[in-house]
Amino acid sequence: MAIFSAEHRRLMQMLHPSHHQEYSELLTSLGAFMEKEILPLSPKLDAGTASIKGPRAALFAQGMGQIPFPTEYGGLGLPFSVYAISVELLGTADASIALSVEIHNAVAEGLVNFGSESQKESYVEKIITGRKLASFALTEPASGSDAGTMATTAEKKAGEFVINGSKMFITNAGEADVYLVFARTKKGPSAFILEAPNRGLRFGAELQKLGMRGSKTHEVIFSDCRVPEENLVGEEGKGADYAKEILHGARIVVAALNVGISQLAYGKAVAYAKQRRAFGKSISEFQLIKEKIADMKTEISAGRLLYLYASKVKELGGDFSSEASQAKVFATEMSLRVSDEAIQIHGGYGYTTDDLHRHWRDARLLTIGEGTSEVLRMLIARRELSREL
Ligand SMILES: Cc1cc2nc3c(=O)[nH]c(=O)nc-3n(C[C@H](O)[C@H](O)[C@H](O)COP(=O)(O)OP(=O)(O)OC[C@H]3O[C@@H](n4cnc5c(N)ncnc54)[C@H](O)[C@@H]3O)c2cc1C
Repeated sequence: MAIFSAEHRRLMQMLHPSHHQEYSELLTSLGAFMEKEILPLSPKLDAGTASIKGPRAALFAQGMGQIPFPTEYGGLGLPFSVYAISVELLGTADASIALSVEIHNAVAEGLVNFGSESQKESYVEKIITGRKLASFALTEPASGSDAGTMATTAEKKAGEFVINGSKMFITNAGEADVYLVFARTKKGPSAFILEAPNRGLRFGAELQKLGMRGSKTHEVIFSDCRVPEENLVGEEGKGADYAKEILHGARIVVAALNVGISQLAYGKAVAYAKQRRAFGKSISEFQLIKEKIADMKTEISAGRLLYLYASKVKELGGDFSSEASQAKVFATEMSLRVSDEAIQIHGGYGYTTDDLHRHWRDARLLTIGEGTSEVLRMLIARRELSREL
């Protein structure tokens, strides 16, 4: 199976008629690298017998982190839709590396959009080339969807901000060099760049997860954690707006990641259906199995079109929050249905094979992380009800 397929190539042609060859070459080469170097490692990452560090660093060396960023900060300056497809490919090769890379890149996007010139110069190129691993620290033990109620504080004292509190379920925590931390100052939630190590920064034990097991997730604890005043990102009190904006973009990418997971689960289901026999014939000849294959394929195509549509709306500028949320809600729920049907088609082998049920376990995170389906449905409805018809 080619991770970058003829279907992706056709979509590139439609989306970028004058540059599709250049973009397709980049994605073909990334896809080939992922097939050779990442895909075979994926079961080991799930089993905890391989580390994410080597393959993630190798991906950055291939330029994946640089795709959508401006050339003045070391990026490739390519459209967001090209980046989103690259994350779909990575979601097929290994979902947990894709999770780690997408949240890392979301931090870089936040700094490009809201950071000062000197913050952009100091951090963006290092992050997108993988020289510094980044982590996004918003959720707290008692505030997730309702992030505006965050209890972590940042008090201004003698040219520094002193951060106290904790953040929960943080991807890349413990490994990251740079944390984008959201904490409440007198003016409200604000964003800070925190470099590790720092005497006031420590981590809870690694959280044991249902899926996405290659990625690291920890609680992050701040005890009089000092950051220089110049590490405030943008304006004090605007952190909640920045977090929302960063997450809108990240949701498109999470949708792409889920299409990638679904694609692999679907590919395995089709291959198995063709070779498994029952009642004297291949199970792929049964109408009820054919219906599953048809529905899985149709839903994957729909998820892909939704995340590419949201990417294009983002590229054109303006508000893309509803389109990004529609793509995420649909693609994350779709990948649960598709990976569940892949288990069903494999029968008992589906339930007992790690390398198959891990697709459902990986997909299960993303109707929760980066905006739950419930909260995103509220966001879509609010946005759509306020639109002129
Ligand atoms: C593996 C993993 C990795 C993560 N990585 C990160 C990370 O890197 N950085 C980060 O900051 N966070 C991260 N998160 C946190 C994630 O974004 C949150 O778990 C998510 O936003 C939901 O918050 P919560 O868990 O507190 O659930 P809650 O907000 O408590 O929600 C619980 C339930 O109530 C529902 N609910 C809440 N409000 C409403 C409402 N108004 N109407 C209807 N239903 C509602 C929710 O949809 C959900 O079903 C990660 C989480 C996990 C599990």
